[in-house]
Amino acid sequence: MTTIAWIGLGNMGKPMTKNLVDAGFTVVGFDLNEAALAAAVENGVTAARSTAEAVGDADFVFTMLPKGEHALAVYRGEGGVFANARSGAVLVDSSTIDVDTANELHEEAAQAGFEFLDAPVSGGISGAAAGTLTFMVGGEAETLEKARPVIDPMAGNIFHAGGNGAGQASKAVNNMMLAVSLQGVVEGAVLSRKLGLDPKTFHSIAKVSSGDSWPLRTWYPTPGVVETAAANNGFASTFAAALAHKDVGLALAAADSVGVDLPGAKLAYAQLQKLLDEGYGDMDCTLMIRNVDPEAPG
Ligand code: NAD
Repeated sequence: MTTIAWIGLGNMGKPMTKNLVDAGFTVVGFDLNEAALAAAVENGVTAARSTAEAVGDADFVFTMLPKGEHALAVYRGEGGVFANARSGAVLVDSSTIDVDTANELHEEAAQAGFEFLDAPVSGGISGAAAGTLTFMVGGEAETLEKARPVIDPMAGNIFHAGGNGAGQASKAVNNMMLAVSLQGVVEGAVLSRKLGLDPKTFHSIAKVSSGDSWPLRTWYPTPGVVETAAANNGFASTFAAALAHKDVGLALAAADSVGVDLPGAKLAYAQLQKLLDEGYGDMDCTLMIRNVDPEAPG
């Protein structure tokens, strides 16, 4: 019987572990937040009292934590994964973190004798619940093949993005492009309406023209146009502004490390920062439309 340790049972970790339990795996979980741990236990996860206890007997260790600093805290130190996982365990960090920290974890894992993958995901909470996440995996191809059977129940797509850090690099670039195109979409939604165009008609035109993009099709920020858009629901979060802000920040840090200037990403980051400064970090990132038109409907 394969045992999986899971550290971080929040918005993503909870549905991801449910899919592993439903697939027949034994999942031993830990979260600092007792309510998160209790919710996972209701789905069939076995509760551990610490990271050390969770990982002790595991064949695979997954982490799904907010940021690089949390991942470092969970992997390092006396009570951490490196000191307590058993020999031969495969370690997979699915948190979205900075490329530099991912590379540090790869190095420290190798020094401690473990195989490690950076494996962030795309698809949000709904993709996590449906088991259709896209996994972007960095590290050795052979390690991915070992982990593939346990990633499968959570995934719609699994990509070997490349060597160490390539998963995090792919995720950062992807989400940076999403934020930059979203800025174009919110500006288009405002300008088209102010020019007197009917939102549905304009959307139908752009969708089959060169203005098309994923956020245009999925997140159009005017109510009544696209069913999946947060604009239909008072901009309650489908992808929080704070997470989008974090992800663009990771791309900017990565760009800095290779000496690339990204003016569009900087602009999108500043627009997201404005939402955070105004207390809208928990709202949907498509609320960026309010920066262009404070009276925008929704
Ligand atoms: P979350 O904040 O809901 O969950 C993180 C969990 O980690 C929390 O329950 C927290 O208590 C726990 N935690 C933090 N430090 C810990 C420690 N030292 N030991 C044990 N538990 C600890 O976040 P989330 O939405 O589940 O996101 C997790 C990661 O996935 C983030 O990196 C995020 O960027 C990424 N991600 C999120 C989404 C999304 O739509 N929510 C989509 C794709 C990727």
